[in-house]
Amino acid sequence: MAKSPEEEHPQKAFGWAARDNSGTLSPFNFSRRDTGEDDVTIKILYCGVCHSDLHTAKNEWGVTSYPVVPGHEIVGAVTAVGNNVNKFKVGDKVGVGVMVDSCKKCNSCHEGLENYCPQMILTYNSFSRDGTRTYGGYSDIVVVDQNYVLRFPENMPLDAGAPLLCAGITVYSPMVYYGMNQPGKHLGVAGLGGLGHVAVKIGKAFGLKVTVISTSPKKENEAIDRLGADSFLVSTDPAKVKAAMGTMDYIIDTIAAVHPLTPLLCLLNVNGKLVTVGLPEKPLELPIFPLVMGRRLIGGSNFGGIKETQEMLDFCAKHNITADIELIRIDEINKAMERLAKSDVRYRFVIDVGNSLSKVDQNAQASRLFYFAT
Ligand code: NAP
Ligand code: ZN
Repeated sequence: MAKSPEEEHPQKAFGWAARDNSGTLSPFNFSRRDTGEDDVTIKILYCGVCHSDLHTAKNEWGVTSYPVVPGHEIVGAVTAVGNNVNKFKVGDKVGVGVMVDSCKKCNSCHEGLENYCPQMILTYNSFSRDGTRTYGGYSDIVVVDQNYVLRFPENMPLDAGAPLLCAGITVYSPMVYYGMNQPGKHLGVAGLGGLGHVAVKIGKAFGLKVTVISTSPKKENEAIDRLGADSFLVSTDPAKVKAAMGTMDYIIDTIAAVHPLTPLLCLLNVNGKLVTVGLPEKPLELPIFPLVMGRRLIGGSNFGGIKETQEMLDFCAKHNITADIELIRIDEINKAMERLAKSDVRYRFVIDVGNSLSKVDQNAQASRLFYFAT
């Protein structure tokens, strides 16, 4: 008979999991494998809350197997290393992003594009090589092959830096790959959430003119004054959209819900590029006329490989780029998820795992003791 999540491995672990498509998270006891020869064991200090965590917790993509412990913007301190580990030592501050393993043999892996390996193993809601489930960073510890662990830059704050491990690389990688980083060009950022606000900052560091394309007029002042955008376009205002038609060289589309592509394509000039990284739960309609008439391109992109993620972290450290965050306790996660679903976050929730998870753990134990005592 299959062992329970609590018994399948020797290291005890504790986190918060969703059990069904309500997406509600609650305390969850499970276990992690022993520190293998190539492994690093990490005490988790902070974990960002990505919209992918919400899509997965609520099974919006139809691929969730419960219980699921989300979280793939993990920052922590190394507490143990295996015999073969030469990249990290105990005490190092490290990060773990969206994946924790891949086949290491295919062309994608050889090219540093492990994120496109057909056998890539995601940080949560995936299966490890030993057949057990992977659980993410809304938890106290994680064990990861050293080759999928990132070195956290010295001068970068651990909490505000955590979101770069998914949000940061997911916008940096396509900007580099699709050449959307030529100084002086005009970038539109569609959707001002976790990914979008980091795209504004990275776009400015590349020397671009940046316009935010948003459904939330109340984000305008912050976008310009705090995040450094050059202008702000309310996508629900047809007159303003019309006036901006044909003015942008590139658009990065981070929108988390189904939306029309025609207005975005029409904002692009001839030869403009629209790259979508958002993952709405249903397919988008592809409008052919604005594509053909303007020789425009549409592309996609899936976070990034390990080498490029390290490069992005170092680039952000050099340019003083971190996320704007709302730090929460683990027991505030369900409220945070509700707000995330309504695009009401400035601009990434980060869970203070190190300071709130253990307390909840003790509370949970106290209530269990209370239960047994009565
Ligand atoms: P987020 O913080 O919720 O931001 C998404 C933004 O999209 C919202 O703030 C909102 O911006 C806009 N939006 C939401 N609903 C909308 C609607 N119905 N119509 C128009 N705009 C809407 O989410 P996130 O964490 O940045 O993630 C964004 C998407 O990227 C998610 O689908 C996520 O799963 C996906 N993702 C993909 C990858 C990848 O590797 N490709 C990696 C990470 C995340 P405004 O208020 O400004 O309109
Ligand atoms: Zn993510």
